Amino acid sequence: MAKKISDTSSESSLSPPPEGLSALAEKATVQTTAKGTKRKAEAIVTKTTKRTKKTAVEDGTKEAAIASTNEVPRAKRGATTKVKYEETVEEEEKANGVVTKAATVKKTARTVKKKNVKDAPPLEERTKDSKLRVGAHVSTAGGVQNAIPNLIHIGGNAFAMFMKNQRKWDNPAMDPEAATTFINACELHHVEVGDCCLPHGSYLVNLAHPDPERKKQAYDAFHDDLVRCHKLGIKLYNFHPGNANATTREEGIKLIAENLNQAHSDPATGEVITVLETMASLGNTIGGTFEDIAAIIEHVTDKSRVAVCLDTCHVFAAGYDLRTPDAYAETMAKFDKIIDLKYLKALHINDSKAPLSSHRDLHARIGTGYLGLRAFHNIVNDERLHVLPMILETPNDVVGEDGKKFEDKSIWAREIKMLEKLVGMDVESQEFKDLEAKLHEEGTSERERVGDQVDRKQAKDTKPKKQAKEAKPKKQAKETKPKKTGKGKKKVESEDEDDDDEE
Ligand SMILES: [Zn+2]
Ligand SMILES: [Zn+2]
Repeated sequence: MAKKISDTSSESSLSPPPEGLSALAEKATVQTTAKGTKRKAEAIVTKTTKRTKKTAVEDGTKEAAIASTNEVPRAKRGATTKVKYEETVEEEEKANGVVTKAATVKKTARTVKKKNVKDAPPLEERTKDSKLRVGAHVSTAGGVQNAIPNLIHIGGNAFAMFMKNQRKWDNPAMDPEAATTFINACELHHVEVGDCCLPHGSYLVNLAHPDPERKKQAYDAFHDDLVRCHKLGIKLYNFHPGNANATTREEGIKLIAENLNQAHSDPATGEVITVLETMASLGNTIGGTFEDIAAIIEHVTDKSRVAVCLDTCHVFAAGYDLRTPDAYAETMAKFDKIIDLKYLKALHINDSKAPLSSHRDLHARIGTGYLGLRAFHNIVNDERLHVLPMILETPNDVVGEDGKKFEDKSIWAREIKMLEKLVGMDVESQEFKDLEAKLHEEGTSERERVGDQVDRKQAKDTKPKKQAKEAKPKKQAKETKPKKTGKGKKKVESEDEDDDDEE
């Protein structure tokens, strides 16, 4: 179905899945939509408020992922209606070339911004009696209230979202009407946000920054998110711990805990639990080891206000294996020993395009990466995790018939159903084997591509002299190559890596 456009919101929030999508966002990519005919229709539609609204809604999710603020309906092949706009970045008009239309669209989009998304027909029904709480990072383009229809659209029982534009430092007041609509929608659809919602913090925030001004800026944005969560009845709030680019690891860990303690002591944050996300990188990134996470928790005064979100792609890239039942059990035992499983309150469910211990943060669709379907079978059949929100941050961009990329939310709808179905499935059954083989095959080219990059990097690291020369070619390869596989599937790299490096 359709889709398309995207998000616009700036204040509200949208955005996509963290990692993978964030990369796109950074590139200010555009996103788009639907397949040919529909796209065209949409582009045209933008002229009418009603349609615009629809569009905004449908796209919601992905857009978010991509750019929190861009919206670009794509013109269909041959069509002349290409319109693109970005709410906050006026230059987009130029980029698109259709200035007049862009202007029109922009206006319409703004008026629509506050409106609610209409319930798009569900791609899959929610599984009422599922033992799992699985969902995805949905878009809040147009306002936080739109997260719920976007969740219903993909048939999820859990979700993540950004509380506001994750790429800006602004902390605009939350629209009370949007908040009320959100709460009402939760009630209407029996979505218990206290249990199933895991917002994702801004990529800009680094709670380990020692500079007083930077520290305050980061804390204010973080605190503001917690207050928003509290107002909406959300109990969990996930964030990247931070990095020690400007300080030592030990000091950075203390600073993070100090910020958490300060936030926890403010009644305006209610009882929202601050959830530390496990990271893929090492180096200056804090949270790439279970020891880092444990050290932060150790410094937190109110232990009931801190928890951990295990990102399957991140821990695998960081060296914690999950692929076989034994490896999975060993990793969970390490988690329990070093951190304590009682702190595990959520999971980000992503396969990995990069191998074990590669320290690359590249999300892959479930079963297509180096983790493979068996790893997810291990996870969903671990009853200790059955009550926890499991959030997909898998790439859902695909290439349409016209060669353009668009977000296909049915990918998430299918992954949610597949994960639910894996519960209790016999790994020796033909059904499991066929599924495993099919997904493995689907990810072959990407695994080879990234695996090759990792190998070359390792070789380079062993031979310091070659470093400079190899570094560049590699990077270019990474950025240009992606398109080569294009038959309907596109690869989206999620690069948290980039985010980490930035702040
Ligand atoms: Zn994240
Ligand atoms: Zn990631």
